[in-house]
Amino acid sequence: MTFLQCPQCQSTRIKTKNTAKKAGGTLGALAGAASGAAGALRGASLGLAVGTLAGPAGSLFGTIAGATLGALFGAAFGCEIGAAVGEVVDRNILDNCCCSDCGHTFSEKRP
Ligand SMILES: [Zn+2]
Repeated sequence: MTFLQCPQCQSTRIKTKNTAKKAGGTLGALAGAASGAAGALRGASLGLAVGTLAGPAGSLFGTIAGATLGALFGAAFGCEIGAAVGEVVDRNILDNCCCSDCGHTFSEKRP
């Protein structure tokens, strides 16, 4: 836990907003899911190609498995990246901290 103090009233009751982190995570997940859909198509065709070697049942299973994995990995990866980028934005650009006592907002610049 980091120690934060309000520059205005020296209160230590500081809330962090993490606006960009939340937005970034959401946007990232959406973007990831979109690219995951592309990944799902690739995964599906790869799964189909591999599964076809194993026969009709294999091609169906391969298509489903490939598509599922592609979409899941895309969304998880996108969310991770989006949250990481958002955190950097929060920390360096936005006033991420809000004082519970006086309502002053400030950024948590590290010395
Ligand atoms: Zn304050």
